[in-house]
Amino acid sequence: MNVSSEKVDLKNLSPGELQKFLVSFGKERYRSTQILRWLYQKGVESFEEMTNLSKKFRKELSQISYLSTLSPLYIEQARDGTKKFLFQLEDGNRIESVLIPDKTRLTLCLSTQVGCAFGCRFCLTGKMGWKRDLSTSEILNQILAVRKTLPEKRAITNIVLMGMGEPLANFENTLRAIELMHHPDAFKFSSRRVTLSTVGLLPELERLAKEHIAFRLAISLNASDEKTRSQLMPINRRYPLKMILEWCQNFPLKPRDRITFEYVMLDGKNDSAEDAKRLLKILKGIPSKVNLIPLNEAPEIPFKRPSEEKVRQFQEILMKGGLTAIIRASKGQEISAACGQLQGKPPP
Ligand code: SF4
Repeated sequence: MNVSSEKVDLKNLSPGELQKFLVSFGKERYRSTQILRWLYQKGVESFEEMTNLSKKFRKELSQISYLSTLSPLYIEQARDGTKKFLFQLEDGNRIESVLIPDKTRLTLCLSTQVGCAFGCRFCLTGKMGWKRDLSTSEILNQILAVRKTLPEKRAITNIVLMGMGEPLANFENTLRAIELMHHPDAFKFSSRRVTLSTVGLLPELERLAKEHIAFRLAISLNASDEKTRSQLMPINRRYPLKMILEWCQNFPLKPRDRITFEYVMLDGKNDSAEDAKRLLKILKGIPSKVNLIPLNEAPEIPFKRPSEEKVRQFQEILMKGGLTAIIRASKGQEISAACGQLQGKPPP
């Protein structure tokens, strides 16, 4: 669908904004409920399909607004069932989403930016640099486009905002998208099924806490001391580990909720027994879970993946210290769909 600069893409509007938009054209408020259901529950791609709206109303809508869509350029499937979707946006930029099957779950990992400005040294997306933020509709259209490829009885169960980009650096669009993920007339994902992963942008985290936005929080930690984290993640110079941990200590979590800490394991850099012990110490008092992600190696990345034994020893130290630590199997590695491997490139 072509973008008209005059018309409004309805998928860029939050439920409240959609209602206001319709009321400003003299329509009833309940019309927004009808339209939300068509867009996100039925996944229609044209106004003609909205059959409970009169023909006249549909025509009026098409004069002032449009519905953007995305369709995958390529879909690659790995042996473990993980699928990577490559999408081309209206301006020619490319992004990726990854669908990860796991027993009863079907998790979709979404991108929120084209590239990323944060330059974490173990991440290929970071090597691309930042090109632009995705609009709300570009974030949501990834869900709709992937859902369309699924067999009728298979549903996406979980959303993770961990693809290309730092979600909190695209704050407004990410929040609007999360609102629609949860909304009862839109996608209806419960707050436990949407996870946002961040490098720890403190002002934005503060804002989230104030606005009571419900989702699971994952913080990309990757080191247990300031020096190593600053070497791996330049953002640590602006928002040091100490400040992030203090923020986590004070964050009012709901009962049974925990903060997930992502820890990409790099051979000889952050995988020693001392690192594990220090990690235990700094996470003390924070209801937390640690995801250990052995590095997905790439020629452009100056680190190696630790041996399985080393990863297991690291996990054991954390578990003995009372921390839940899960080794994340690297899904989709051979199609470059695993953590830190997204670059928006077609298959070779
Ligand atoms: S790990 Fe995340 S924040 Fe860091 S460069 Fe990669 S995409 Fe950006």
